[in-house]
Amino acid sequence: MDKFKHLNLSKEMLESIKHARFEAPSAIQEKTIPLVLEGKDVIGNSETGSGKTLAFAAGIIDMSKRGAGIQSLVLTPTRELAEQVAQVFRVFSRKQGLKVKQIYGGVGMDGQIHDLRSADIVVGTPGRLLDHLKRRTLNLSKIKYLVLDEADRMLDMGFIRDVESIVKLCPTNRQTLLFSATISKDIDYLAKKYMKSPVRVSAGEKVDPSKLYQIYYDVQQEMKFSLLAFLLKREKEGVVMVFCNTRRNTDKLSRNLNANGLHAQAIHGGLSQNKRSGVLKAFHSRETLILVCTDVAARGLDIKDVSHVYNYDLPNGGSDYIHRIGRTARAGKNGIAISFVSSGFNGEFRQILKEAKVNIEKHALPKFDILAVSTSSSDRERPFRRGGGQNRNGERNNRRPSSERSDDRRRSFGGGNSSGRREQRRENRDSGRNKFDNSSRFRR
Ligand code: AMP
Repeated sequence: MDKFKHLNLSKEMLESIKHARFEAPSAIQEKTIPLVLEGKDVIGNSETGSGKTLAFAAGIIDMSKRGAGIQSLVLTPTRELAEQVAQVFRVFSRKQGLKVKQIYGGVGMDGQIHDLRSADIVVGTPGRLLDHLKRRTLNLSKIKYLVLDEADRMLDMGFIRDVESIVKLCPTNRQTLLFSATISKDIDYLAKKYMKSPVRVSAGEKVDPSKLYQIYYDVQQEMKFSLLAFLLKREKEGVVMVFCNTRRNTDKLSRNLNANGLHAQAIHGGLSQNKRSGVLKAFHSRETLILVCTDVAARGLDIKDVSHVYNYDLPNGGSDYIHRIGRTARAGKNGIAISFVSSGFNGEFRQILKEAKVNIEKHALPKFDILAVSTSSSDRERPFRRGGGQNRNGERNNRRPSSERSDDRRRSFGGGNSSGRREQRRENRDSGRNKFDNSSRFRR
């Protein structure tokens, strides 16, 4: 606790921290909290698991007043992250009695309209916040603290215009805090345009490269399921995240795993909030140890002790690859990242590795039985790569500036010339965020 005491936090905040049994600030907290309290704009280069939420929440809570209008607005890319962040604000502001409300789509407006009347701190996703702004049920005139959480993800999801529209409605004499796992050109653009002399802080890499074993299999598309089932059955221990690129593939894979005796649950933006919360609860309690997920739904989930990450569908680029593998090999634990590369995707995979600056080993396919899979929907969709890269034959496309790419992405998703893209757009729009231990991966 001594290290927390040096950060100039209030007595109430220190009591809440003690109650949470946090013994020392994490690196990002140690660097960020004093800056927030000094009124500085901050760009935090950190990801989920680094303790970034309390890094921005502690100072904001200490500087907020109960009943003085909405003073703090936190934008998050997903509903689950909004819930998770709101929960941190709630837990650590109990003594100050602040009213913290979460605002996201997929639930009724009326309750939110009521909540917004009394809120001191609002945490929400851009789409629904804009809906409230259009209806004039959200007033940002009292905002003093604006947080863009997981800003890179918000931009990846095509929210840049929504984010800008919201930021422009906040008073200019506010303090702006931006947290992002990656600092891209788009992030620099936002920082330049909307922040005042921001101080950059970095929490360092969470994944220990010496503990992370990365491999890939060159496997035919039709064999992917059988290989996955074989590998999951061979290694009975551990908590697994299997990444797919579309909701349909996520559901289908989860269904097929269950049909083959492997207890898995799917999470993606197409599920109702109740269902998503239920899936997360099952993982918290470790009732289920295989989570089949889309990037968007998995983003920001505080899931501890993931032992294996499978790229069942290849990620959309190097940064998504890093995000996915970053779910494992944390806190001194070992982790394995396994990618399935089917024929025709080798060029794409090489490009992903180049972007991610990693070099990984190819493993020979083990002998496994071919299983029957339900073919109710296509799993032949090509993963959607953002803004260029390589085509099927490994030829490099011309990459355009990233600011253009995000606009384009919105158009192409909207126009929708491929079901995979349309689905991914839907996933991004609706989307959304946990903890595990040790029960059986197999169906009981
Ligand atoms: P975050 O990166 O904000 O999502 O936090 C990740 C996890 O770290 C959460 O489960 C927090 O409760 C936990 N946490 C945050 N700060 C600390 C701390 N100083 N000491 C121990 N755990 C922490």
